[in-house]
Amino acid sequence: MDELIFSQPDNFKHQKQRLFRGGISHLKVLADFDGTLTTNFIHGRKAPTLIGALREGNYLSADYNKKAQDLHNYYKPFEDDQNIALDDKKALMTEWWYKHFQLLIDSGLSEENIADVVDNRLSNLRPGVPEFLSLLAKNNIPLFIFSASGLGISGLKYYLMKRGLWSENIILVANDFIWGENGKAVGVKEPIIHSFNKDETMLVKIGVDEKFSKRNNIMLLGDSLGDARMDTGLAAAAILRIAFVNDKIRESVSAYREVYDALILNDGDFSLPLKILKEIIDYAD
Ligand SMILES: [Mg+2]
Repeated sequence: MDELIFSQPDNFKHQKQRLFRGGISHLKVLADFDGTLTTNFIHGRKAPTLIGALREGNYLSADYNKKAQDLHNYYKPFEDDQNIALDDKKALMTEWWYKHFQLLIDSGLSEENIADVVDNRLSNLRPGVPEFLSLLAKNNIPLFIFSASGLGISGLKYYLMKRGLWSENIILVANDFIWGENGKAVGVKEPIIHSFNKDETMLVKIGVDEKFSKRNNIMLLGDSLGDARMDTGLAAAAILRIAFVNDKIRESVSAYREVYDALILNDGDFSLPLKILKEIIDYAD
């Protein structure tokens, strides 16, 4: 199978032209974190998410693994079921995330655990991502990074700082633990971001922020079907949607074709988004 599919070639060209014409002053980038900025596989093995890494490293109390697996077994089929109405699915995902965060808290999750996982166990950025992030920073283009994972705002910031890529143009839209005095998680801030409400969360966080209202050209990067809707409510003038299709490619590619303009298959690198960004920057010169 080709590594790159232009699923909606006419729209891709059209939107790209509009991004070029709008230039860097009208651009913002919305990107998912896990599986989009980071690789999905390491040495042919599925890269652990924060939660997977916590599990593998036995950081938490003994019954965490079983209880988390029970939650996964119960809720995961709902997440994948294309026939469940979106509102019902959102309610189920909220329930799953909430129960899981409560389990993490009950199991003794600490800030130190998160730092240790970031240092030793998490997947890498895709080739091309460091350059992509540096160019955004250099040109002061806002980058919204979405993560529904348990890494949280402090974990994501730590991850990027460790790689010398943290910068002021980055806005993190992620869950955020409340830490107690002993460094253990005691709660999680509302609203909880799960796999199907990144769009609403986006609105809450930045939809009304005047600073970004003129930047209505969007490059959207995701790796799930839900990610394609991260721009909901933002009234984009132009939007280019690019997906990394990492897993179960044969089964899922037709659904991705419907909602994304271009698909990068097989856990590919960041050269397409990087090329487009460079063209937008050069076009402005
Ligand atoms: Mg993802």
